[in-house]
Amino acid sequence: MDITGTAQHEAWQARALPPVEQLRTGLWSIPVPIPHNPLRYVSVHAFALDGGGLGLLDTGWESDEGWAALTGGLASIGAGIADVRGVLVTHLHFDHLGLAHRVREASGAWIAMHPADATLVSGLNAAGAAAAVASEVEFLVGLGADREEAVSDVGPPEGMARFTRMAVPDRLLEDGEHADFPGWRMRAVHTPGHTPGHLCFAEEGTRLFFSGDHVLPRISPNISTGARGLADPLRDFLDSLAAVRDLDPAEVLPAHEWRFRGLDARVDALTAHHEVRLTELLTAIRDHPNSTPWDLAAYLTWSRPWEQYERRMRIFAVTETDAHLRLLASRGLVVSSGGPVPTWTLAVR
Ligand SMILES: [Zn+2]
Repeated sequence: MDITGTAQHEAWQARALPPVEQLRTGLWSIPVPIPHNPLRYVSVHAFALDGGGLGLLDTGWESDEGWAALTGGLASIGAGIADVRGVLVTHLHFDHLGLAHRVREASGAWIAMHPADATLVSGLNAAGAAAAVASEVEFLVGLGADREEAVSDVGPPEGMARFTRMAVPDRLLEDGEHADFPGWRMRAVHTPGHTPGHLCFAEEGTRLFFSGDHVLPRISPNISTGARGLADPLRDFLDSLAAVRDLDPAEVLPAHEWRFRGLDARVDALTAHHEVRLTELLTAIRDHPNSTPWDLAAYLTWSRPWEQYERRMRIFAVTETDAHLRLLASRGLVVSSGGPVPTWTLAVR
């Protein structure tokens, strides 16, 4: 894997925001900061469209700081929000979709995403924050959480409110369809796993691959189960990795971290990482049969001592463990007890 986004990588090491960069004729990357988040920023990609105006790929986490970075970035390339004609969104997470409604209000641009994520956005908006919190608490209790711990980890509805009023897209994009970016041939590649409707985009003129959060150069994207999520997200993610492995793009442009070359090598590393985790989890189940996902997560190795995990980090870890369990189950290696709070044991073979 070769790092091609050297300015992005240097900025990362200096703990600074990378610069706005022109990447090709009519193509720029604009970093939009994510407050208080280790990912630090989203790279919004701006495309000059035939006939005038701009297309955006992703928009950034909604905050005044993010809005200033996005509008300032556009100003630095001689454009403004009013020039935006269309917005493609790789997936529904707030660092990608968050600012989309402000962009639409300011420009009249359309917003497009995959129907599976569009359905989730509509569902969250319809449910509202209190119901979203309640269903997440129930989900965690079903994974073996103590109810009080689940309530405190999920937090109050006020913390969830922003995620229940995100932009519902005007247009839907299915796998293989081309986005309405005149002058570009942006083919949508459905890559479920990180979210049910995650999209990558393969630009067929330049052979650039916009990987969203599906393939990142440094970290492995979070693959978790959830109240409204995929039944076996890790299986879907590994299938989605295999589906893009041999595209042989000229360059990979992820939504976080830095641009790179060598998609196949990175896909192989991510795949191998999950196989190691699956093996580790199998060992934990063998040593601690009849455990819930909540218990099993504590037996795995994490980037810091398990006792320090709480709130959102603990939810990510437990739901990620659950995603690995479900793949082990679909491979026939483990079985669940069933019932409202299933426990797991090795399958008898
Ligand atoms: Zn992201």
